[in-house]
Parts: sequence; structure tokens; C-alpha cells
Amino acid sequence: MLSRRHYQEIAKIIAESRWEWDPVGYIQENLSSYFAQENPRFDKEKFLAACHEHEHDYLRSTYCGAMVCDRCGDHQGFDRCYCGWAVSGGNGRQELIEMGENID
Ligand SMILES: [Zn+2]
Ligand SMILES: [Zn+2]
Repeated sequence: MLSRRHYQEIAKIIAESRWEWDPVGYIQENLSSYFAQENPRFDKEKFLAACHEHEHDYLRSTYCGAMVCDRCGDHQGFDRCYCGWAVSGGNGRQELIEMGENID
């Protein structure tokens, strides 16, 4: 059951976030720490993962021609791309070259 005390703490974290370089990251980090402190069974990792989940919003990239998510850069149906993106977080262009792809 949430009480006034919780609302105050959450409002404080949101209010402080406006001075941060990465407000959403600040809120995620501080809220999850707060919840963990309030509830020993709270799963911080799971919470942070859920904060990053979204419906991909694909638009055709004018740069590489793939359908690319506007929000996270995911390429629909691909693991790597010559524009440099890779699902692994590495350099997709380099990975393609290493796989023997000719991309010049
Ligand atoms: Zn996305
Ligand atoms: Zn691409």
C-alpha cells in the first residue's frame, strides 16, 4: 500500500531529476534504489529492464535503407548493418567485413 510518504519520496526524485543530464536515467536509478530499500524482494534488474522495453517504431532510414527504430536504432530483421549498427552493440560495419561481406 502506497502512502503519502511514498508519494513525497517519488515526487522528490522527479523534482531533482530536472537538474540531471539524463533525467530519465536518474529517475530509473533512484526510484529502483528507493523501491529496493522499501521492499527487500524488489528486483532492481528486472525493473530497469522493463523501463527500457518499448514498441519499436520503425521508419525507413535514409542512410542505410533499412527499417530502423526511431527510439533505439534496432534494425527490423537484421543483426548488423553497414551503417555501423549491430544488435550486439558492436560495430556492425566491422562485423560485416569480418564475415566476408563486400560493402564498398
Ligand atoms: Zn526500438
Ligand atoms: Zn543501418
